[in-house]
Amino acid sequence: MKLLQRYVRQYKNKIKKGKVVVISAPSGSGKTTICKELLKCNPNLVFSISYTTRPAREGEVNGKDYFFVSKDEFLKMVKKKKFVEWAKVYNNYYGTSKEQIVNAINSGKDILLDIDVQGGKNIKKLFPDGIFIFVLPPSWSELKQRITSRGKDTPAEISKRLRNVNKELSYLRYYDYIVINDDLADTVKIINTIISAGKYINILN
Ligand code: 5GP
Repeated sequence: MKLLQRYVRQYKNKIKKGKVVVISAPSGSGKTTICKELLKCNPNLVFSISYTTRPAREGEVNGKDYFFVSKDEFLKMVKKKKFVEWAKVYNNYYGTSKEQIVNAINSGKDILLDIDVQGGKNIKKLFPDGIFIFVLPPSWSELKQRITSRGKDTPAEISKRLRNVNKELSYLRYYDYIVINDDLADTVKIINTIISAGKYINILN
């Protein structure tokens, strides 16, 4: 009886807490759209708004898509240990706020991190019971087509992103789930299922 009671108590304590959900993907895999859709249909999920030194793209909102900061401000935050992880991606700095993660987890919300593979690997070390999902495009030609047609990047940036894909794929082993984004609605459904199930996996460990 005591053992059962202990398990139930432990279970309840664990289930009350939010989880870290990491999504990484080569650019052009549709990751940003997937994240937006997930947030629309899952009220228990909040978005981790990263800090970045990259200039805002057209349509991006400060404090919603990212917190856009200068390199100076960013490095000060690094010194003050404000980030759980940070990385240089395509010549810009990106960092995940420690405060946002702690607040979400403690208030029982799951927190969605749209971060690159270096960040995924580092977060896995800190939050081994997080949910780690890697999204792949359906094919190389589809990936190329998506990156080119979104019209957000210069030709030089596009080829840099394409050249980076193999390196990104070498981090696949740090992820628990791979989802091929063939159809957006299906992908969102699958990822939502993964998040729901992931909350109960190894819960008494
Ligand atoms: P973009 O400039 O296209 O918005 O993002 C470039 C890459 O940086 C994407 O792979 C995105 O997921 C990643 N990224 C965004 N925020 C963070 C972060 O806080 N940490 C890390 N490591 N990567 C991030």
